[in-house]
Amino acid sequence: MSLENEINRRRTFAIISHPDAGKTTLTEKLLYFGEVIRSTGTVKGKKSGKFAASDWMEIEKKRGISVTSSVMSFPYHDFHVNILDTPGHEDFSEDTYRTLTAVDSVVMIIDSTKGVEPQTIKLFKVCRLRGIPIFTFINKLDREGREPLELLAEIEEVLGIESYPMNWPIGMGKRFLGIYDRFNSQVVRFKGDEEEEIVPFDHIEQTDLVDHPVYNDTLGEIELLEEAGNEFTMERVQKGELTPVFFGSALANFGVQTFLDTFLQFAAPPKPRKTDQGLVAPEAETFSGYIFKIQANMNPAHRDRIAFLRVCSGKFERGMSVNVSRTNKTIKLNQTQAFMAKDRETVDEAYPGDIIGIYDPNIYQIGDTLIEGKGNFHFDELPQFPPELFKRVQAKNVMKSKQFRKGIEQLVQEGAIQLFKQDLTDSFILGAVGQLQFEVFEYRMKAEYNVDIEFVSLGERIPRWIKNEKFDKRFFDSRSMLVRDRYDQYAVLFENEFTYRYFLENQKDIELVDLLEENDYQAQ
Ligand code: GDP
Repeated sequence: MSLENEINRRRTFAIISHPDAGKTTLTEKLLYFGEVIRSTGTVKGKKSGKFAASDWMEIEKKRGISVTSSVMSFPYHDFHVNILDTPGHEDFSEDTYRTLTAVDSVVMIIDSTKGVEPQTIKLFKVCRLRGIPIFTFINKLDREGREPLELLAEIEEVLGIESYPMNWPIGMGKRFLGIYDRFNSQVVRFKGDEEEEIVPFDHIEQTDLVDHPVYNDTLGEIELLEEAGNEFTMERVQKGELTPVFFGSALANFGVQTFLDTFLQFAAPPKPRKTDQGLVAPEAETFSGYIFKIQANMNPAHRDRIAFLRVCSGKFERGMSVNVSRTNKTIKLNQTQAFMAKDRETVDEAYPGDIIGIYDPNIYQIGDTLIEGKGNFHFDELPQFPPELFKRVQAKNVMKSKQFRKGIEQLVQEGAIQLFKQDLTDSFILGAVGQLQFEVFEYRMKAEYNVDIEFVSLGERIPRWIKNEKFDKRFFDSRSMLVRDRYDQYAVLFENEFTYRYFLENQKDIELVDLLEENDYQAQ
């Protein structure tokens, strides 16, 4: 198959959602359709504590020490699907955000009983900035949820994206009859037990739906959508301005396959990416890619690290020599880690859109660009994401302060965690997106630098960077703490929304910026 065909059939995406919306359940169904697993069951078995018999279980159980399930690949019809896991729950970290720079589209799951939840908003914001297609799956229709129209209004208001329902639920919970599939001109009836029955629109007359009150209510809502709803245009979907919305139930495996088929059809294949020397097209002959995540093995018996590389152009072949742009050193890529896939153990070749795991003997950094041969350019820097949790940190033993500083410096440079110094006192403050990052930091300081550290939590804070060159330092205190980041830029850590607002109202001369919104890192 030609390089161009390989690129066009790639669909690399992530699923974003708030914990418990059904990401694991939906992922499992997608893996089932991709024939990666043989049967579906309760993947996490949260309640029963039991795992169903699927190949994924073993991998999931080892979560935290295994990287295999971070990327799931499988062929499906004419497509080659790559699903990137975005760690949530207690694993939420900058990696979660960075992973979103490596995908070409996203699926957003909304729990129909809850609507748009906080973690979804955070993840959505990152996707929005990149201008990639966003598809919405409204889940748990088998339960009494909120009114569909109300959910759509919430998506538009809270997230600021227009929506286009591709299908519409006919009732919900106990009265759930199925979905009215506008896009494929059919009704898909819910039969429970993972069963569906398809009734084309022109056959409805012959079924009991005709005079079913729930169905007639649905027709009324559809009429409303046709009149007042948004118009579907492919262009706006591709730019991430309009999100196609699908209703279904991941648990009941209802509406999932239709969703998958339609989503793959409209989701974007890999696009050109920005570098310091202009755009690099995926079809370019030379292989190139960048590292968006480095996972240290938490198991002391395996001190190796795996770097996750997103292929951006050309064809990757194992054994290839590449140049690492930052260091200008040539490296032969022999050891490539397999991710979860149907029929591969090691990665011998890969195409744009694919993710490969490369063995890292401590030579890579997050954001590194790798190019076949002697090429040298950099993909646009990965954005820094504003940390949300802060802790003061010091070595337990002052005699170890030299190793402590060395360890901090290296781990911070790697992008594992963000470092601040409190103004005047110069005490170290670490900032991270999630709790796990502190734990990894603590572990690595001990394992790699032999330093025991102590944390004092400053809790959740709102960081804002100061734009002014000069400003009066008298207005800061422990609730609005003045700090410098590792580039010596001044920032303020606000204790809460209230202190932040108060400051804004009273210190109009100080100009503050939210890092995330300042970043412009669109894929093209
Ligand atoms: P995650 O935290 O987003 O990965 O969510 P899970 O996939 O683990 O699902 C959270 C809970 O919701 C589990 O108990 C699932 O069985 C349940 N769940 C997921 N999808 C559905 C659905 O379509 N209907 C119902 N009733 N429950 C669901």
